[in-house]
Amino acid sequence: MCMYNMHVTHPKSICQWLMMCCSYTPCLIAVGLILSNTTPYQVFFLPLLWKNCAEGNVSVVYYYYCVLMMLFAQFMVFFNYLKAICTNPGHVSPEPWARPPVYGGKAYSDNPFEVFQLDHENKLRYCAKCDQFKPDNAHHCNFCGKCIYRMDHHCPWINNCVGRDNTKFFLLFVSYIPLGAFHIVVTTLYSSFYHLKGVDMVAFDGDVVTTIVLWCSIIFSFSMGLAFGAFGGHFVWMAYKGESSMTMSIIRKVGEAKGRKMLQQSREDHLYDIFGSDRRWWVLACPLSPKRDYRGLPGMTGPTEIEMHHMLA
Ligand SMILES: [Zn+2]
Ligand SMILES: [Zn+2]
Repeated sequence: MCMYNMHVTHPKSICQWLMMCCSYTPCLIAVGLILSNTTPYQVFFLPLLWKNCAEGNVSVVYYYYCVLMMLFAQFMVFFNYLKAICTNPGHVSPEPWARPPVYGGKAYSDNPFEVFQLDHENKLRYCAKCDQFKPDNAHHCNFCGKCIYRMDHHCPWINNCVGRDNTKFFLLFVSYIPLGAFHIVVTTLYSSFYHLKGVDMVAFDGDVVTTIVLWCSIIFSFSMGLAFGAFGGHFVWMAYKGESSMTMSIIRKVGEAKGRKMLQQSREDHLYDIFGSDRRWWVLACPLSPKRDYRGLPGMTGPTEIEMHHMLA
């Protein structure tokens, strides 16, 4: 089964364009879900807070903190989401993997590309569907119909694979959602009890409609924060350990010892592929593409970082 997405489909007819647009429907549902979480805060709570601010019940600094924090979280969620959708996850190009690579540098081949992983029969890993050898940690996605570097899983919510080149954006997307959601919960609850005049969150005295809207916003945001906190936390924890969803599924299939031997993944290599070599906190937290050197990547025969350093010196 081959899905339609901008990285694997090149529509030529109106019908194909329509099919491709339809395949992005889950993305629109996800955007609607996020907006239905943030919109009550922006069109209802913030104007109410500003009214109380003008009456002297709330400080201006607190009001602008609420506004800016919400804008920051929302920008980060949508920008990372867009990057996760639009970034090619890391399709393995047919060349040079059509020819047998060198295994661990021990066998002779004029193919300069090297692998360290073998399949469960101790043979070079080969994808019969793509008709080419597989680089280490690459897996075939049946939805995209291609082999993907460091494939984690195919996500219908981004209509794309989560692979080497967009995992960082996917992780940031699922991490900023709980940040925004819990910001809504904490500031709405705090202001409802201490700042907003005429609102009684417990006795439902005064403005009942406002109280109900505020409670609905708090409960919805809390559920979103909890669900995405658990979901995002799971993926961030796996990345921290140097594992992916594929690691778990291979280990489940062939057993712990054999699976680990087949994968031979080092945590540092995994982090390098996903986050690049520059891991300052603000580089990790911002939607910047990971920077890597050119070591061993197919189609990239440029100098390594060390060689570039010598060339510049
Ligand atoms: Zn393949
Ligand atoms: Zn895929």
